[in-house]
Order: sequence, then structure tokens, then C-alpha cells
Amino acid sequence: MVIINKTVNKPKLYIVPTPIGNLGDITYRAVEVLKTVDIIFSEDTRNTLKLLNHLGIKKKLLSYYKDNELKATKQIFKHINDGEIVALTSDAGTPCISDPGQIIIKKLIENNIPFEVLPGPTAFIPAVIKSGFPTDKIYFSGFLPQKNSDRKEYLNYLQNNISATIVFYESPHRIISTLKELLDIFSPPISVSRELTKIHETTYFIFSEEDIEEIKPRGEFVIVINNKITTNDSLYNIQELLIKLQKENFNNQEIIKIFKVLGIRRNVIYRLLLKND
Ligand code: SAM
Repeated sequence: MVIINKTVNKPKLYIVPTPIGNLGDITYRAVEVLKTVDIIFSEDTRNTLKLLNHLGIKKKLLSYYKDNELKATKQIFKHINDGEIVALTSDAGTPCISDPGQIIIKKLIENNIPFEVLPGPTAFIPAVIKSGFPTDKIYFSGFLPQKNSDRKEYLNYLQNNISATIVFYESPHRIISTLKELLDIFSPPISVSRELTKIHETTYFIFSEEDIEEIKPRGEFVIVINNKITTNDSLYNIQELLIKLQKENFNNQEIIKIFKVLGIRRNVIYRLLLKND
């Protein structure tokens, strides 16, 4: 058994989450760590400098971003070998969560070097809680594939295989088209949190294409979907409801609309309709 990072081993590197909007969201411990480390590697040194100025901290800053991760990892090792303590921050939120950081963590584990991960701000947790969807199983999916065919295939895979609350990050340029695509595949409502912790923080619940038009495609967005598969028990109730609706002469199109409003997943509806034909 390999055990690293026992708390008696003094960490050589700290992962330090930073606010996703509201500067008050930095933790006391994050401030203490930033004050005491020898050097800070950050995704965007200008951004981190603003935060450090706000906190009244002066530190040497170096870059650690997606395209220099390997080079920066070597630099971090050099500083650690020289006996220095390093902090790593990303642009906003927690490093390694849809942000750079994985390479240095992997190398630290391989080399048995102790590090510590501070808990702190990350955008997807408040978004999931604001959705009101189940929190017992959460599938964090980050950014979607950009290529149309890959994205479609991936979304269909999620819809059919991942019984959980699913979370995506999305950019303002793609938010409208992505929501239209999601509405075609998943059952509404879709929860969209915009500008979390900032002045214009808003959470929308999307039921239809008209609702999507209400969203201002500016700022930062987290999309949350309830894709928990209906249990056998409730499936039984749905089947009973279907039989009742058919007895009342509702046609399939009307039944599909009713079930969609009830939040029943499209593939469940079709399966039941086929079975009852
Ligand atoms: N490391 C970050 C974290 O821990 O959440 C995520 C960084 S990722 C490059 C940036 C994406 O996170 C944005 O495009 C958006 O989807 C989401 N995000 C970050 N801050 C946000 C905020 N204040 N409100 C809504 N979404 C946010």
C-alpha cells in the first residue's frame, strides 16, 4: 500500500480555490496559505494579482496554464526541490475542475510529494443546489464536446446511461444553441444558473424554446439537468396513467405532451407507448 499526504508530512504544494465572482468567498485558510507560501503559480497572473492586491498580499507569481502545464510542472518541481512551498490557483474557482492542474497533481503523486487541496469555491455546487434536483448522484460533465456529431452522440449516451443530476459548463457564445439541443434530448425543466455569486446572479428554469429566448447570452453559465431514471415503482404508476389517458381517447401526441410536462423522460414515454400499442 502506498500512503502519501499523511497530514504529518508538511505539504509542498497547496491547491488554492479562488472566488468565482464574489471576492468575499475566499476562505480564511486560503488567505493564510497565500500569505505563507513562497511562490504562487496561477492560470492568469493578472487576475491573481488583482486578488492578491485586494487581500494586501505581495508574492512572486508565475504562470501555470493549459498550454504550458508540462513546462510549469517542471518549474514547480525545481522550486519544491529548492525547499520552497508553492500554491496553485486558477482563473476562478477550484484548480483542476475544468481548469489546469491535473498534470502537477499526477506528478506529485508519482513522486510521493505531499500536497494539500483546500476546499473552496466552485461553480457547479451552488448551481446543482439551486436547481432543486436530486443531490444524491451528481454527474459533473464540464464543457461539452464542440464538434456537433461528437456532442450529439455524447448527449444521447448520457441520456440513456447516466441516471443522475448532470451538470455542464457552457460559454455565453454557445448557451442558446446548447440549451435548444438539450431540450430536444432531456426532459424539462432544465436549470440554468448565470453569474453565480455576482450582482446579476439568476437561475432560470427552461421548459420550452420560448423560455430560452429570455436568457441574456452574456456572463458565465452552469446548466443542470435532472436525468434520474424513474424507478420501477413510479414506472408502474406512469403505465397506469397511460392506460387511463388512452381510455379517455387522448392520442399519442397529446400523451407525449402531458408526460413531458410531468418531467418523464422521452425514451421512457416511447418505450411505454410501444409496449401499450
Ligand atoms: N474552476 C472553475 C470551477 O471550479 O467552477 C471552473 C472554470 S471553467 C474554465 C469556467 C466555467 O465555469 C464557465 O464557463 C462557467 O460555465 C462556469 N462558471 C465559473 N464561474 C461561474 C459563475 N460565477 N457563474 C456561473 N458559471 C460559472
